[in-house]
Amino acid sequence: MNTKRQKLIKGIGVSSGIVRGSAFVVGDEVSLIVPRYEIEETEIVAELEKFERALVVAEETLGTICEEVRTKIGPREAEIFEAQIMLVRDPGFVTEVSGKIKSEKRNVEAVVADVVGRFAQMFRDVNDPLIQERANDVRDVGRRVLACLQSQSFEPLVFPDKIILVTPDLTPSTTARLDLSGVLAVVTELGGKASHAAILMRSLGIPAVVAKKATHRIQSGDLLILDGMSGKIFVHPSATVIAKYAQFEKDFHLDKKLLKTYLDCPAQTQDGVTIELLANIGKPSDAKAAVHFKADGIGLFRTEFGFFVCDQFPTVEEHCEIYAHLAVTMQPRDVIIRVFDIGSDKVPEYFQLAKEANPSLGLRGTRLLLRNPEVLRTQLSAILRVSADHHVSVLFPGIAGVEEIVGVKAILEEERNNLNLAGIAFNPDIKIGAMIELPSAAIMVEQILHEVDFLSLGTNDLTQYILGADRSSAEMVDHYRSIHPAVLKAIKQVIDCARAEGKPITVCGAMAGNPARVGLLVGLGARSLSVAPGVLLEIKRALRKVTIADAEKLANAVLKARTVQEIEALLDSAIK
Ligand code: PEP
Ligand code: MG
Repeated sequence: MNTKRQKLIKGIGVSSGIVRGSAFVVGDEVSLIVPRYEIEETEIVAELEKFERALVVAEETLGTICEEVRTKIGPREAEIFEAQIMLVRDPGFVTEVSGKIKSEKRNVEAVVADVVGRFAQMFRDVNDPLIQERANDVRDVGRRVLACLQSQSFEPLVFPDKIILVTPDLTPSTTARLDLSGVLAVVTELGGKASHAAILMRSLGIPAVVAKKATHRIQSGDLLILDGMSGKIFVHPSATVIAKYAQFEKDFHLDKKLLKTYLDCPAQTQDGVTIELLANIGKPSDAKAAVHFKADGIGLFRTEFGFFVCDQFPTVEEHCEIYAHLAVTMQPRDVIIRVFDIGSDKVPEYFQLAKEANPSLGLRGTRLLLRNPEVLRTQLSAILRVSADHHVSVLFPGIAGVEEIVGVKAILEEERNNLNLAGIAFNPDIKIGAMIELPSAAIMVEQILHEVDFLSLGTNDLTQYILGADRSSAEMVDHYRSIHPAVLKAIKQVIDCARAEGKPITVCGAMAGNPARVGLLVGLGARSLSVAPGVLLEIKRALRKVTIADAEKLANAVLKARTVQEIEALLDSAIK
C-alpha cells in the first residue's frame, strides 16, 4: 500500500504522453549527466590516465582564458581564473579522486562528480559568504574537468530501464549523447515548449515536462505519474489518481491505434484541398518514422543535432554518406537539408564560441557560418555532391536579410566551381531556401524571395524574436505565444508574399505540429507543413476536419483580434 502522501507538481507540458514510472534523479552538483559504472581492476590505470589527460586539457583551456582576460580586461579579473587553475591541481581533489577510482573501482566521471559535489557542499556549509562563493568556483572547475572527460568518450550514456529521468537541464548536445531507449519520460527544471530539447523529446516520442526545482522536489525511486500534455506530475500518486490515469493512458493508446486509420488517407481538407505534409528530422534514422507515417518528404533536416556526438566537424565524406543514405531512404521524395544552425543553445563541445551575455541574440545560424566559411564550404560541397544523384535542396537558417543570402550564394557558387574544376558531378539547379524566422527577414521577405527558390517559416524563432521572449525559458512561457497577434500578422504577410511570387513556402516550427493550430495556419494560407514524424497522423486528422472557407473565416477573425486572450477564445470556439 502507498503510505507516502501524494504531491502534485504543476509544470509545463512540452511533449505529450502519459506514463507511470519510478524517478531517476540526476544530481545538479555539476549539472552534467555523468555515466556511472563499475570498472575492473585492469581498467584502473586507463581511468587514472583519462583523469590526468582531462586535468591537462582543463589547465590549458583555463590558462588560455586567463591570458585573454588579462589582456582584454585586466589582471584583477584574471585572478579568478588563476584561482581556478590552482583548484584543478588541488592536491586534496586530485588525491581523493585517484584514491576513490582505485578503492571503489568506479569510473572517473562518476568519482569526479561525487568529489566535486562533496567539496562544493563543504564550502556552502561554512557560515561565511566569501567562502560560500568558492563553491561556485569548485562547481565551475568540476564542470570543466567533466566536460574534458566527456569529450574523450563518445559512448552513449545509458540509464536504468523504465525510469523517468529528472534532471536540471538537457541541452541538445547533452541529449545527443544519451541513450534514452529505456527512459519513459523526462522532467527538466529549465526549458520551454519550443526549446530544442523539447523538440528532440517530441521527435523521440518521449513525454516531457518542465518543472521548477524538480530535482529538489522529487527523489530517486519516487513513484511518478507524468502527463506531458497538462504538465502535471503526481509524486506518490494516490490509488484514485492511479486509477484515473490508467484510464487516460488506455484512452491515449486507443487514440494512437485509431490514428493509424489515417495512414492511407490523403492529406486533404474536408473540401478536398491537398496540403503537403513533410517531416522534421534531427537525425537520419528519424527518416524511417517519416516513411512509416507516409510523409511527403523531409521538410527540415536539422543537421546540427547529429553532429554533437563527435570530436570535430564532419568531413565532406562523412556529410555525403549521411545525406546520401537519408536521400535513399526517402526516395523519390525530396529532402531539405538545413545547414548547421549552431549557436545559442546548440554549440558542439568541439567548437569554441566566445561567451556572450545573450547567446540567443548572439552569433548563430547563417551569420555564424559566414564567419566560419570553411565549416559552411564543407557542408555545401557535400550537399552539392549528393545532389548529383538525389533529390536534395539546401536551406539556410537565421537569415536576417538579403546580405546573408547573397553571402552564402557566393560561397555556393565557389563550391560549384571547385567541383567543376575537379570534375565532380552535382545538380547545377539545386534549389536553395531561406528560413524566415527573424523579424527582419519577415519584413524583407519580398526581397529575400527574389534570391531564393523556396521559404521555410520557422515559427519557433519567429515567435521568440518578434516577442523578445526566450523560447527556452520556463519564465517566459506565458509571454512566448505563437498565437500572439503580432506573430500571426507576420506569418500571414510572409505566406501571402511567397504565394504572390509563386514560390513554395512550408511552415516548419512547432506551431505546424499542433493539431489545434492547423485550421488557423490553413486559413492564413499555409499549404505545406513540416512536423515531427510522430504527429503526422494527428495533423492529417485535424486537416481532414477543416474546410478552406471555415479556416479562412477563422483566420480573418483572428487577424482582427488585439490580444492573445481574444485569439484563444476564437480558436476555442472554432474547435468546439
Ligand atoms: C524554428 O525556429 O521554428 C525552426 C523550425 O528552427 P529550430 O526550431 O531548429 O530553431
Ligand atoms: Mg529556428
